[in-house]
Amino acid sequence: MDLHQSATTAAQTAEHFDVLIVGAGISGIGAAYHLTTQRPGTRFAVLEVQDGFGGTWRTHRYPGIRSDSDLHTFGYRFKPWTSKPIGTGPEILAYLNEVIEENGLERHIRYGHRILAAGWSSEDGLWTVEAELVASGERRRLTCNFLWMCQGYYRHTGPYTPEWPGMEGFQGRIVHPQTWPEDLDLTGRRVTVIGSGATAATLVPAIAGQCVHVTMLQRSPSYYFTGRNANELADMLRELQVDETWIHEIVRRKLLHDQAIFNQRCLDEPEKVRAELIGAVRAHLPPGYDVEKHFTPRYRPWHQRLCVIPNGDLLRAVAAGQVTMVTDEIERFTPHGIRLKSGEEIEADVVVTATGFHLSVLGDIEFAVDGKPLVFGDTITYRGMMFTGVPNMAWVFGYFRSSWTLRADIVADFVCRLLGHMERRQARKVEVALRPDDAGMRLLDWIDPEDFNPGYLLRDLHRLPRRGEKREWQHTQDYWREKDEFPAIDLDGAEFVYA
Ligand SMILES: Cc1cc2nc3c(=O)[nH]c(=O)nc-3n(C[C@H](O)[C@H](O)[C@H](O)COP(=O)(O)OP(=O)(O)OC[C@H]3O[C@@H](n4cnc5c(N)ncnc54)[C@H](O)[C@@H]3O)c2cc1C
Repeated sequence: MDLHQSATTAAQTAEHFDVLIVGAGISGIGAAYHLTTQRPGTRFAVLEVQDGFGGTWRTHRYPGIRSDSDLHTFGYRFKPWTSKPIGTGPEILAYLNEVIEENGLERHIRYGHRILAAGWSSEDGLWTVEAELVASGERRRLTCNFLWMCQGYYRHTGPYTPEWPGMEGFQGRIVHPQTWPEDLDLTGRRVTVIGSGATAATLVPAIAGQCVHVTMLQRSPSYYFTGRNANELADMLRELQVDETWIHEIVRRKLLHDQAIFNQRCLDEPEKVRAELIGAVRAHLPPGYDVEKHFTPRYRPWHQRLCVIPNGDLLRAVAAGQVTMVTDEIERFTPHGIRLKSGEEIEADVVVTATGFHLSVLGDIEFAVDGKPLVFGDTITYRGMMFTGVPNMAWVFGYFRSSWTLRADIVADFVCRLLGHMERRQARKVEVALRPDDAGMRLLDWIDPEDFNPGYLLRDLHRLPRRGEKREWQHTQDYWREKDEFPAIDLDGAEFVYA
């Protein structure tokens, strides 16, 4: 797309919408629901490169795929979750399908549209979006007044796999969970899964019964919650035949209340929390098992996302002898497996690299504002939703430590309110800008690596928008404050510039 041309020509010929939503995952479907209910009559479309909805839950098809937070809070606030708290990938897709069907959202979604570029023109007060139709390679232009970016945070097209020496000479198969091959039969195979995050912890027990043996190879251990995949309160309310809408609301409130207490305890008494988490892990393992080496993280709880292993399934597989934990570093691949820095060698027919993602900043789309290429790393974020110098755009970036969707819902409320406010003011353009009293504010990276440090963020931190010292200029990761702060945002505040 010629980002330097005036958008006027495009604006005259392209199909026009009030709002374009990019991405049909949890955030994009939520955005479509909220637009439909909070701003009926809005002309909008959801553009999605894949041939179906679901985003993360469509892309990831590895054995055992499931959520690692409870679906009472990972589900939308407006649609009760009626199954066990930790949901499987297919269950989550079925839930999203119901949201689409019950609210007539299908007619708004256009699959097979890869957004390549988007240019804002102040002259026309419009975004011009260039999409590639995946099926034909044809290009199509659309225009909109407002861009609602729901494209997630990682690249769906290709996972992150580190380069280890000797990989090319490995005679077995190397697979990544993000691109799980449909034809992969693990029967009778020796499998090594590299990783210790939620994906590895989910995958390992799911394949353990099928393989000859599974080795879970981790550089360092993670914390796990080992509780039952059940919610006693929900079960009791169901027994009392309470309406599912009520159950959803009550259980959400209780879980959020409990999570707030837990988060605070992680800050106030990290050693006690650490001992409790590790104690629960130990209880699933045989006496004398080296919990210190394999299940005692070096960081404090909550420094990285805590993984849920429902009913301790990973630990049960270890206790049953189906899974061996190895905590070591890889020196190189050999033709028949992996040699470790300790000198030990693991023999493997299949190696699964559960090694994470590539960060995607706003869908890897080429953005421009008034003909000037946009570098997100040069912008400052307003509450992790908008960016200085970028008009008429909002981004949904959920929570790391709480369920993503909690934020998708409250960002949606904010965007709908902002759109209504623009209409009342007859403004064509809204932009965020530092206020006079923000002058001299120190600018920092998007996240504080001391506070939270997953590899995919640290590798590419410089590509993300900057954060300021004041709360307004941060993605605070604090649902409990944002749920009250967002509805109270003064849209006529000095940080909002309308034209
Ligand atoms: C395996 C796994 C498990 C997870 N479990 C949890 C959990 O239990 N709880 C939790 O809170 N979070 C979890 N997460 C984080 C999770 O990604 C989010 O919670 C949530 O699913 C993100 O939804 P989303 O719609 O914002 O983004 P995504 O699910 O990433 O969807 C974005 C969509 O945008 C599309 N897209 C991207 N770029 C373009 C483009 N240029 N043009 C057109 N379309 C585009 C993509 O194809 C995709 O369909 C998990 C993540 C993974 C990978």
